[in-house]
Amino acid sequence: MTDVSIRLLSPEISSMIAAGEVIERPASVVKELVENSIDAGSKRISVEIGGGGVESIRVVDDGRGIAFDELEIAFQRFATSKVAAAGDLDAIGTLGFRGEALPSIGAVASVTVVSRERSEESGGKLDVVEGVVGSKERIGAPPGTTISVRRLFRNVPARRKFLRSPGAESSRIGTLVTRCAMAYPEVAFALSIDGRRSFSSPGSGDLREVIAAVYRSETARAMIDLDAEREDEEPVGRIRVRGMIGPPSLDRANRSYVSFFINRRWVQNRSLGFAVEQAYHGFMKERRYPIAVIDVRLPLDQVDVNFHPGKAEVRFRDEGAVFGAVQRRVRETLTLESPVPEVAQTPVFRPHSAPAARGPVFWPVEPPRAAEPPSGLPDDARPGVEASSPQPRRGLPVLRVLGQVQSAYVAAEGPDGVYLIDQHAAHERIVFERVRSEAGRRSPQSQSLLEPVVVELSPGHREMVERHGQVIAGLGMVVEPFGDGSCLLRGVPALLTGSDPAQALTDVLDTMSEGGKFESWEDRAAYSLACHGAIRAGMTLTADEMTELARQLEACDSPHTCPHGRPTMIHLSSSRLEREFGRT
Ligand code: ADP
Ligand code: MG
Repeated sequence: MTDVSIRLLSPEISSMIAAGEVIERPASVVKELVENSIDAGSKRISVEIGGGGVESIRVVDDGRGIAFDELEIAFQRFATSKVAAAGDLDAIGTLGFRGEALPSIGAVASVTVVSRERSEESGGKLDVVEGVVGSKERIGAPPGTTISVRRLFRNVPARRKFLRSPGAESSRIGTLVTRCAMAYPEVAFALSIDGRRSFSSPGSGDLREVIAAVYRSETARAMIDLDAEREDEEPVGRIRVRGMIGPPSLDRANRSYVSFFINRRWVQNRSLGFAVEQAYHGFMKERRYPIAVIDVRLPLDQVDVNFHPGKAEVRFRDEGAVFGAVQRRVRETLTLESPVPEVAQTPVFRPHSAPAARGPVFWPVEPPRAAEPPSGLPDDARPGVEASSPQPRRGLPVLRVLGQVQSAYVAAEGPDGVYLIDQHAAHERIVFERVRSEAGRRSPQSQSLLEPVVVELSPGHREMVERHGQVIAGLGMVVEPFGDGSCLLRGVPALLTGSDPAQALTDVLDTMSEGGKFESWEDRAAYSLACHGAIRAGMTLTADEMTELARQLEACDSPHTCPHGRPTMIHLSSSRLEREFGRT
C-alpha cells in the first residue's frame, strides 16, 4: 500500500492547482492580461498571438505601468493593488481584484514583463519561468506594460490535451478581444494572429464604430441605440441598460451575436440572453437570434463578481430586476422603432376556415404534375429525376397529403393511419442529404452571382474560411479572399436562390464554428446549409408543395429524423386511432 498520510502541498503544486482554475486556456491568459491593461487606464492595447496562443501571447499597453520595486510582488499570489480591505470586495469597480492572474500565468508558462511608469525615466524587466522568479533589470522602455507569455502549459501536459486546434483557440481569443473592444469603445484595441492584423478598433469612444469593426459597417449603421430616446430620464431602480440592438431584420442563426456587459465586464448569463430573446419575440422569425450589445450598469453592491475564478459569471442581488430592466428596455426600443410590431408573430392556431391565400385546405389529391414544379420550395428542392421514382424506400410508406396544420405540419394518410410531418425538420433532412451527396460527388450545385458580394468576416470566420475552404467550396459557395478581412462571394449553393447570399455565408460559418453534434466538417457544413435553406414553420404550403415534400422525404436515406435526430414525423397508427376512439 502506498503512503497515504496527509501533508500540505508544496507551494509549486498548490499554485499550479490554483492556476488551473484561473487559466483554463490561452484565451484566459489574454483575458486576464487585457483586463489588467484596462484597469491600468490604458488608451491603446495591442494583443499578438502565435500558434493559437500556446506558443506566444504578447499584450502591450500604454497604461500606468508597474513600479520597478513591485514587479516581483505582482507575481505573488493574492497580490493586488485593487483591493485593500474586505469591504472593498462588496463593491468591485475594477476588472481584476483577486490578485491571482499574474502568479497563475507565471506558474504555467514562461513570462516576461517589461514595464515603465510614466513618471519614471526607465522601466524594469522581469522573467518568471514556470513559477520561478528570475532576476530583475533596468531597461529602456516606453511608458506602459508589455507582458509576453510563451510555452503555455508546457509543464501541464494534461491541460494541453484539452485544448482545441490553434485555429479554434485563436478564434476564442478573437471573440474575447472584440468583446473587450465593445465594452471599452474609448480604448483602441488591436489583435494580430500569427503576424497578421486580425482586428482593430479605433478607440474613438463610439460603440457604433466598434460594432463596424467587429461585424460589418452595414450592420453597424442599422443598429438601434438603446439610449437614444431617453438620455435624461432617471434610470429605473438605478439599473441602467444601454448599448445597441439590431433591427429584427438582422437576424442570425445563433446566439453568439448577443453580448452582455455588467458594469463593463463581459459576462455570459443565460437568463439575460433569454430576456433579450423574449423582448424580440414576435418581431423575429422562430429560431433566429438578434445582434445586440447590451451594457448594464448597476450599483457595485448589487452584483457579485467574485463568484467564478474566471469572473465570466456574475450573481445579482435582484436578478429579476435586472432581467426585467433588460427585457423592457429592449422591447420598448423595438416597439418604438417598428411600426407594425406584431406582424411576424405566428398565430398559435389558424382555423381552417380562415381565408387561405392559395385555395382551400383540403384538396382533392392529384398526382404532382412533373412538368410544372411547385413554386415556393427553393429551386434545387424541386423534383429531379430521382424524385419521380414512385418506389417508397426504407420503411417510409407512400403518403397521401391531407393538408397543413398551423402552417407548420403536414398531415398525411398512410397505409397504417395518420402521419404528421414537421415541415421544417423534414425539409432539413432532405436538404442535408442532398448537400452531402453533392459534396461527396464533388458536384455541388452552385449558382453564380451576377454581382459578386463583398462579405466582411470576423476573425473567427476568417479562420474557418482558411482552414475549411474545401468544405465550404463543397457546398457550392464560391469564396475568394479579398484582403483586409473580407472575402468575395461569387457563387452560392443553388438551393439558396432568393436568400441574402452574404447572410447565408455568415450563417454557414456561424453554424460550422459552433461544432455541436456533427463530427465531420462536411456534415456540419451540410447541416448549416440545411438549417439555412430549409422551409420554416409558419410558411403556408400549397398542395403540390406538400406532396413534393412527402415524396422527397420518402426518397431520403434516413427519413425519420432531422439531421439533429429530432423526429420529422409522428405516426398515429390505425390501431391507436381505434383504441383512442373506443372502437375496439
Ligand atoms: P489583480 O488584477 O487581480 O489585481 P493580477 O495578478 O492580475 O491581479 O495583477 C497583480 C497586480 O499587478 C495588479 O493589481 C496591478 O497592480 C499590477 N498590474 C498587472 N498588470 C498590469 C498592467 N498591465 N499595468 C499596470 N499594472 C499592472
Ligand atoms: Mg488582473
